[in-house]
Amino acid sequence: MSQIVLATGNQGKVKELAAMLAPLNLNVVAQSEFNVPDVPETGTTFVENAIIKARHAAKITGKPAIADDSGLEVSALGGAPGIYSARYSGDNATDQTNIDKLLVEMKDVDDNSRQARFVCVLVYMAHENDPTPIICQGFWNGHITKTQEGRAGFGYDPVFYVPSLDCTSAQLDKADKNKISHRAKALSALVPLLAQQK
Ligand code: IMP
Repeated sequence: MSQIVLATGNQGKVKELAAMLAPLNLNVVAQSEFNVPDVPETGTTFVENAIIKARHAAKITGKPAIADDSGLEVSALGGAPGIYSARYSGDNATDQTNIDKLLVEMKDVDDNSRQARFVCVLVYMAHENDPTPIICQGFWNGHITKTQEGRAGFGYDPVFYVPSLDCTSAQLDKADKNKISHRAKALSALVPLLAQQK
């Protein structure tokens, strides 16, 4: 079974990806297993940051690599927090301080103008100098609530309302979220393209 390095230390992401790639006889291994250190995300787009992470993992391990970059874009805030989603409230940001900041920034935004979307970009690089990385994007549309609801998930899930399900993404169980999320959509786009690579 050939190995692909996943440029994340997040075991949840490794499991999700490994399950989807197992039918292709691809074995996904977290970069932490190869002691790959984190690399500064200096890009100005999700795509650039995902490429930086995939290239770094491929360079250090000598193996093909997949990286993801994701975040929340809020229309009323001109697309913020965007690529800065993880550190929206500063260097010591937590999920809660990020949510608190978002709700303060949105306090005067009326109910009809609270549209937002989660974005996920996945990049596959066959090697560190791959000139044609595979790039897949997934989006999940919703609204920002005025108060937090639900305890599942992470990040901005408690304030991300999903109209079609009439709940926040923190009120969905993991399996349901993984069927419809931005990450799931980017992954479903990536799997057939990886199958063609083999
Ligand atoms: P990363 O790509 O895992 O570094 O995620 C960037 C940031 O975007 C996270 O720290 C979260 O704040 C936010 N984010 C990305 N995906 C989700 C999600 O599925 N739910 C909630 N927040 C998310």
